[in-house]
Amino acid sequence: MPASNTRPRQPPAGQRHQRMALTGWGRTAPTVADVTEPAGLAEVPTLVTSAPPRGVIARGLGRSYNNAAQNGGGLVISTTRLSRITALDPAAGLVTAEAGVSLEQLMTAALPLGWFVPVSPGTRQVTVGGAIAADVHGKNHHRAGSFARHVRSIDLLTADGEVRTVTPAGSPGLFWATAGGMGLTGVILRATVALTRVQTARVLVDTMRTADIDETMACLAAADTSHGYSVAWADCLARGSRLGRGVVTSGDFAAVSDLPAGQRGDPLRFTPASLAGAPPVFPNGLLSRRTVALLNEAWYRKAPRRKTGELQPVGAFFHPLDGIRNWNRVYGPAGFVQYQYVVPFGQEEAVRRSFERIAAARAPSFVTVLKRFGPGNPGLLSFPLPGWTLALDFPARTPGLASLLDRLDDLVLAAGGRVYLAKDSRVRPAALAGMYPRLGEFRELRAQLDPGGVFVSDLARRLSL
Ligand SMILES: Cc1cc2nc3c(=O)[nH]c(=O)nc-3n(C[C@H](O)[C@H](O)[C@H](O)COP(=O)(O)OP(=O)(O)OC[C@H]3O[C@@H](n4cnc5c(N)ncnc54)[C@H](O)[C@@H]3O)c2cc1C
Repeated sequence: MPASNTRPRQPPAGQRHQRMALTGWGRTAPTVADVTEPAGLAEVPTLVTSAPPRGVIARGLGRSYNNAAQNGGGLVISTTRLSRITALDPAAGLVTAEAGVSLEQLMTAALPLGWFVPVSPGTRQVTVGGAIAADVHGKNHHRAGSFARHVRSIDLLTADGEVRTVTPAGSPGLFWATAGGMGLTGVILRATVALTRVQTARVLVDTMRTADIDETMACLAAADTSHGYSVAWADCLARGSRLGRGVVTSGDFAAVSDLPAGQRGDPLRFTPASLAGAPPVFPNGLLSRRTVALLNEAWYRKAPRRKTGELQPVGAFFHPLDGIRNWNRVYGPAGFVQYQYVVPFGQEEAVRRSFERIAAARAPSFVTVLKRFGPGNPGLLSFPLPGWTLALDFPARTPGLASLLDRLDDLVLAAGGRVYLAKDSRVRPAALAGMYPRLGEFRELRAQLDPGGVFVSDLARRLSL
């Protein structure tokens, strides 16, 4: 989007901007921007109406893997200090929170009252604003859909400086452009979200080790009919008869009666401890093909062939990676590329072929996650559609990675699928239009809502969102 060059360059009086290099969680593609951290919601409108020529974008906790929350040469509004929970109704399970409130904060506040976030991604270190802007999904997508389904209302600051209350019924067009809209419709200031009732902070987990891709997929399909949460880890380097072998875990929140007698007195206890930090710099290439192959083998062997009814704390089940602070540093200074696609049901062959291509290319990913999505929602750029989603982490320096991912894009496109905008750092713009059929509508809405192109990110520039 072009940015008007008539806007002033100086921060508004009383505001301090700090110039710094930012990246996403994958630590690739750094760009330098002026970053500001408003202390309260009232400070944000002036920041937007006085945005510099290169525009402005909101940033939560920077857990998008790519440059969605970067704006090279422009302004980035960090929501870190907009972190107040303004209302929490323990009877109705409705929470109103400023955009910078993290899902961890929500869990800490709501779990003792018997409520859990309706949808949790694989990390709880994301903000409410980031969860809406990427319309994040979790292990319960087949039952609960993505985050936006549970959002009752958004206070959205648009390019004209107005704060609009946007609801799915009252302003469906703007609501479903904002949910999944990657921050490009405005700054989400506050949102009201419906929580999910739970009796305990423990999950009853079933684990099953699978021999190949057919068994992994069959097992996931079965788990979706029996459990509210399901996911598979897969060994992306296994080939031949072991192609796509994995470990399927599924679960549901435990009832108080499922807990051992000693834990029943405090069933909702939640202690979000972060464990050791990864060393600041790992030698480049530590996660090589060989080490990932060994790790994958060990992870696979460690899993029980079949185990049922294991009680796990919320953190262990939903956010195992949060146990290591800055785990993204294990990929070394060159960073890593996350790739996530979804293809519709009926395109199982595309999933199998993607595993074949990755294994044949010996492209090492340890965090390889396969999951089935349920129905999508009206979000113009929302990622989920009913089908199979596969997420992988590759060291950025993997030889041949760019061409492998281009070939995977072709497979995904031909199968009627798409890649995830919160993770993508390299899809070709022409391919994107085929993946998101409502991209044209999104661009039109933005052109009307924000004719000067105030809201812009590095991602938006690359893909002309
Ligand atoms: C370990 C790990 C596991 C993950 N697992 C999953 C998963 O299972 N499912 C899933 O869907 N995602 C997953 N993600 C991705 C993550 O959930 C999303 O990228 C999420 O958007 C990050 O939130 P954030 O607060 O860090 O936002 P940022 O990364 O800072 O920003 C993300 C986007 O949201 C926009 N944004 C942020 N705040 C606002 C605001 N206040 N107003 C308007 N726009 C805003 C930004 O402009 C940007 O476009 C995972 C990420 C990690 C690191």
